[in-house]
Amino acid sequence: MGRPSIQVDEVTLKRIIENAEITNQFQNRNELFSYVAEKYSKETNVIISASVVYLRVNEYNIVLKTPKGKKGQTKIPKGERVKRGDKFSADTSAQKTFELLRNEMKREDATRFLPIVAKAEGGSVKAIIKLMCLTCANYETNEIKHCQCIMCPLHPIRAYK
Ligand code: SF4
Repeated sequence: MGRPSIQVDEVTLKRIIENAEITNQFQNRNELFSYVAEKYSKETNVIISASVVYLRVNEYNIVLKTPKGKKGQTKIPKGERVKRGDKFSADTSAQKTFELLRNEMKREDATRFLPIVAKAEGGSVKAIIKLMCLTCANYETNEIKHCQCIMCPLHPIRAYK
């Protein structure tokens, strides 16, 4: 037998929510539910949690003005997004990696793959995965195609299949 559900008075709950939304600006519903739970518990001496408020809001079909937060998170203003390619240009270790790759390709007579390095430098993850397989298989595309290393996390998404 499950636990008996906590009785919450619908009228009181609706009134508290309505007042709360008029007098406060909540970032998301979690914040609202916590506030309402505290108010309701104080007013009625019936201790309820934010989760109980959430359940009763759904049960009583109470329409809320407070928007849902993204995955329950408080909305934090994001700074300007920097493209991955721009991050690579500013990152000396990334520059070094691409430079080493280019040099290795020249040594291994694999210069036909140089455009893939350029794509990777521009921020293409697909190109980076391709480069990983190419270096792993010594620039033999057939090796990558028939790669048997199913333990490799790149195996399902490897190029040249
Ligand atoms: S999928 Fe195969 S070729 Fe690609 S990195 Fe993994 S082991 Fe190497």
